[in-house]
Amino acid sequence: MYRILLAYFKHETNNFNEKLTTIEDYKKRSFYDGTEMIKVCTGAKTEPGAYIDVFSEREDVEIIPVIMGDASPGGLVTKETFDYFKNAILNGYKVALKDGGVDGIALVLHGAMITDFSEDGEGVLLKALRDVAGENIPIVATLDYHANLTEEMVKYATALFPARYYPHTDFYDRGVEAAQMLLDILDGRAHPTCSIKKLPMILPHKDTAEEPLCSLINDLIGESEKEGVYYAYFVGGFSRANISVQGSAIYVITENDQALSDEISEKYYVRIMKNLESFDLILKEPVLAVKDAIADPDITVIADAADNPGSGLMSDATEIFHELIRQCAAKVATALVWDPETVLEAFKIGPGATFEAGIGGKSSKIVGEPVCGKAYVKSIHDGFFTLKGPMNTGALQNAGKVAVVELNGITFVLCSNRTQAFDEEAFRAFGVEPKDYHIIVVKSSIHYRAAWKRWIPLDHIVTVDMPNITSFDEKKIDFDKVKRPIYPLDSADTVRKAYGM
Ligand SMILES: [Zn+2]
Repeated sequence: MYRILLAYFKHETNNFNEKLTTIEDYKKRSFYDGTEMIKVCTGAKTEPGAYIDVFSEREDVEIIPVIMGDASPGGLVTKETFDYFKNAILNGYKVALKDGGVDGIALVLHGAMITDFSEDGEGVLLKALRDVAGENIPIVATLDYHANLTEEMVKYATALFPARYYPHTDFYDRGVEAAQMLLDILDGRAHPTCSIKKLPMILPHKDTAEEPLCSLINDLIGESEKEGVYYAYFVGGFSRANISVQGSAIYVITENDQALSDEISEKYYVRIMKNLESFDLILKEPVLAVKDAIADPDITVIADAADNPGSGLMSDATEIFHELIRQCAAKVATALVWDPETVLEAFKIGPGATFEAGIGGKSSKIVGEPVCGKAYVKSIHDGFFTLKGPMNTGALQNAGKVAVVELNGITFVLCSNRTQAFDEEAFRAFGVEPKDYHIIVVKSSIHYRAAWKRWIPLDHIVTVDMPNITSFDEKKIDFDKVKRPIYPLDSADTVRKAYGM
């Protein structure tokens, strides 16, 4: 019988956001003990859902679930919060060891956690776990595509499984790979040997369906099919992290062949370094984006990409709404805009009533003035809903109390817990049918595309960069802890020269 410890502890930290991330933030999103984790995750197309599916197929595997915690991306994770989860996982290990032993450890991590004492939360956690488990217990972990992968993570984990795509439609597949690898190690079939090659590049938010990422990822998948290679991944990195270990990476796992791992990672490192400029971001001017959307008879989706709660922003920026109002746009719907105060007012007066509202623009002066005027309360909700799009299908979301409020031609889906609009359920779950509208505004950078591009052509899906605490354009962000030179803060030639190319 294999006894496998299962734990989930995620955070994507944007340390430009000064609001610290605490236990309370975890309680607002996902905070479950082991038994609850199994209940919540079974059947979902997520990483823990995959672990549960694969392990449950084998009669000789016992899952020992410990804890699950996820908070909305935001500021530094406090030591108290980090220690809470770390200690829960370490204690879970010790208890399981006494109860009958532990054969392997399966983790669900993010890879971009910064705490108030370390730039590399996952590295610290993996080291602590390795210290108690010793060298012989395999530790596998899934990661986000936005992991800022470090040497420490690679050193202390046995094998890592970062999402390949952005939008992250493959969490489940990576979970299956991680689970299968753990079983293969335990069965004595696999001896994973890993290599990491960091890139001096801050990758902008780009859809991996677009070039040059699409070909790069497909070629890495091709490498993964070769003899002696398990997996070769491009790890995008999280660009809103002001840390010395910022940057994309190539990560390769082979069967007991360090030279082969190194060779493949070096090959793709060189390819990317030679083509740094091809990763540049192309953005549309907001005034033009709105003008074109109004003039076009078909539906347009505008992403207020700099205000993505999934990148640690507050999702209450208003400049895009003021621009829509200035240009007299009609039939506009937006989700999910964070404004717990207005939600409370809407709850107080109830559906069917009107009130003087000031929507959004509350988190800081930079994000724009509130949208003011007489607002109509269309409906109110408890804020729980389930994702139905291609990403995290079946995962439960908690947006806190939600109010649908109409003002100045815009239907606002307002939430109390910052929640990214991953798919159309951010609208439909609250009675707003996107097809009844002409312009849709989402607070998301790329993830929303997985769902919307199923029925909206890509030329009607537009990214704009509106004022916020961090611009959507990396070149405008004030990174002062990042190791220089790095692209695109420094020119491609400067970076190549510094790295001897
Ligand atoms: Zn991500």
